Amino acid sequence: CQWLSGLPSDADGLDESDPLAFGLLNGAKRIGKDTYIVTFDSKRLSRGAPFIAPADALNIISELPIQYVDLNRQQDYIRKDLEDRIHSVLYRSHYIGGPELTALEQKLADYVGVDHCVCMSSGTDSLLVGMMALGISAGDEVITTPFTFAATGQAISFIGAKAVYADIDPVTFNLDPELIEDKITDKTRAIMPVSLYGQCCEMDKINEIASRYHLSVIEDAAQSFGATYKGNRSCGLSTIGCTSFFPAKPLGAYGDAGASFTADPELAKAMRQIIEHGQESRYKHVRLGLNARMDSLQAAALLSKLQVFNDELIKRNSVAKQYTELLIEHVSRELVELPTVQHYNKSSWAQYTIRVSRRDQVRKNLTEAGVPTAVHYPIPLYQQESLAEVTLDCENTETAVQQVLSLPMHPYLNSKTQDYIANSLIRAIDF
Ligand SMILES: *Cc1c(COP(=O)(O)O)cnc(C)c1O
Repeated sequence: CQWLSGLPSDADGLDESDPLAFGLLNGAKRIGKDTYIVTFDSKRLSRGAPFIAPADALNIISELPIQYVDLNRQQDYIRKDLEDRIHSVLYRSHYIGGPELTALEQKLADYVGVDHCVCMSSGTDSLLVGMMALGISAGDEVITTPFTFAATGQAISFIGAKAVYADIDPVTFNLDPELIEDKITDKTRAIMPVSLYGQCCEMDKINEIASRYHLSVIEDAAQSFGATYKGNRSCGLSTIGCTSFFPAKPLGAYGDAGASFTADPELAKAMRQIIEHGQESRYKHVRLGLNARMDSLQAAALLSKLQVFNDELIKRNSVAKQYTELLIEHVSRELVELPTVQHYNKSSWAQYTIRVSRRDQVRKNLTEAGVPTAVHYPIPLYQQESLAEVTLDCENTETAVQQVLSLPMHPYLNSKTQDYIANSLIRAIDF
């Protein structure tokens, strides 16, 4: 048995005849009204809800709504370690910096296989800070994909540079390297490929173009932490790799967080200064900066989650494989197109995204069947009000925004639920 424990009020029950039951009841109350405690113990069962027998639990569980991303299940595997680490931060009252951050940066750098990791307040900030460290500013151009989350384009615009959009490869949904060179001008400073849905871009080709034109490459790896390209980890494939630990990303914190990676010690030093108001040493501000640090509680949560991360990547991969097995027979009937992962890539499966025609109607039918879905993304960045830019040659993006549909995806999705999702999908298309 386990419950969110260790709060002082639990000690009020120490003189009860069943102090453990008292603690469990307290824990259940803290979690909320839909919490049940499953037990064989007849004395506790006679107290009534939230104590219930396993058979009753099965009924309740089978009625649970399908979740697009399930952030709760994971806690069952890491709760003890998580609570130890969070309590340790609370007891020490050291909320900024501290041993959690140092340990996390080391572990993340080792995991990615680069020398430097700088933890940050979000993925968006890591993009901003990366560009600031490279000295990209007003008048500069950064080539990127229009088929991404708004943060990619907004970060570029926010520092005053111009986002120049090149179209995607329709198979991977990632920036098509063949289209980059045409977009290079004497103002171009960097290429910002986005490893969409968890799959890395063709980094060798992109790096080769960049080196020929003396450009930097900033990988927006917000969705691909844990992925590999030709055996090397995402985030360690370019000048700077930026990732996000937003809760729903493959490695998610319990709030906003992100990190940047680089092999270049000067860039790492610059990024470290920028996230602390450009400080070189206390109150000596040598450059303009932000407050863009990751806080210690997020670092504590991430240290816990990192322990199950590799296992979760394997689980995500199995979930993706299962979807493909369930849906592949419908591909030839041209009802769906399934995701393609290039043979040299291993995806972190942030999303399992298919293509369907009449997407919005299919999505509506799925919602009615209790299957939550998402659309990443419905509008090309150059058509966003905040980023409007005349771009006429991104036909693959224009098609993708109308067809893509992301299915529920998380490591703990079970095969029964996947069966239901796949059947509902085919019914939703074939109406
Ligand atoms: C999530 C995401 C971001 C932003 O990360 P935050 O941590 O939410 O700021 C940037 N780019 C892409 C592609 C993303 O998916």
